[in-house]
Amino acid sequence: MINLFRKRKEREIVTVKTMIRMYCRAHHHPEGEMCEACAEVFSYATMKYHRCLFGEDKPVCEVCPVHCYSRGMREQIRTIMRWSGPRMILYHPLMAIDHLMLLRRSKRKMPFYLKKVNLKKRPGRGRKSA
Ligand code: SF4
Ligand SMILES: [Zn+2]
Repeated sequence: MINLFRKRKEREIVTVKTMIRMYCRAHHHPEGEMCEACAEVFSYATMKYHRCLFGEDKPVCEVCPVHCYSRGMREQIRTIMRWSGPRMILYHPLMAIDHLMLLRRSKRKMPFYLKKVNLKKRPGRGRKSA
């Protein structure tokens, strides 16, 4: 179960790990730990979360105006999220609600994020793969 007293970035990491695990169990490793490829996606996402240019106040990655993931990793994480996302409300409702609240907050604070990366007038810029 998710601990709502944890810092939000830590909660996001727990949520993304849960979503990757769900996907991996259904598609690759039905038992035990994640497969190597999924573990790599998780460790990449964790590294990006810790290095996020928005720090502790980061938006949810899916609506980030920068999206710092490489093209390949972005595609992989999107595939995982598309599959796990709709199942979260069923298997991990608190995490799903927490994520939806963070998503709403990220959208509300979008002008702040855009200003921070100086993209307010050029929203298409800065979406380069890292
Ligand atoms: S995608 Fe955006 S919010 Fe997510 S880690 Fe990268 S810069 Fe931060
Ligand atoms: Zn896997």
